[in-house]
Amino acid sequence: MSDCLFCKIVEGKIPAQKVYEDEDILAFKDISPIRPVHVLVIPKKHITSLATAGAEDVLVLGKILAKANEIAVSQGSPDGFRVIINTGRVGQQEVPHLHVHIVGGPDPVGPMLKRI
Ligand code: AMP
Ligand code: ZN
Repeated sequence: MSDCLFCKIVEGKIPAQKVYEDEDILAFKDISPIRPVHVLVIPKKHITSLATAGAEDVLVLGKILAKANEIAVSQGSPDGFRVIINTGRVGQQEVPHLHVHIVGGPDPVGPMLKRI
């Protein structure tokens, strides 16, 4: 997709600190980390969000989750991590190219969200 920030990273038009790449997915460090380990993992194919993903995306989504632990361990989060997928307006997704946040580090990441 021509006007998509993360597609431009996939295409090499915008630099990123890549930590893992294969034919289907790319992982790179978040530019503004919220924890010592903060990596974004994206499908190379443009998928806007989980709200628009379909049956044809099952394999790549599974691949991202199946790689998450390996990426987290390699980046310094050996004892677990949190996965976050912000989706759409309510999920406050800022970049409209589906991405999985992997957040972690040596210490627990903190509470999930404040209770209502
Ligand atoms: P979200 O709110 O889930 O859409 O998260 C978007 C994430 O993308 C934020 O955590 C940003 O810090 C991150 N981000 C934005 N631009 C870049 C970039 N050029 N390289 C790496 N991460 C980025
Ligand atoms: Zn895109």
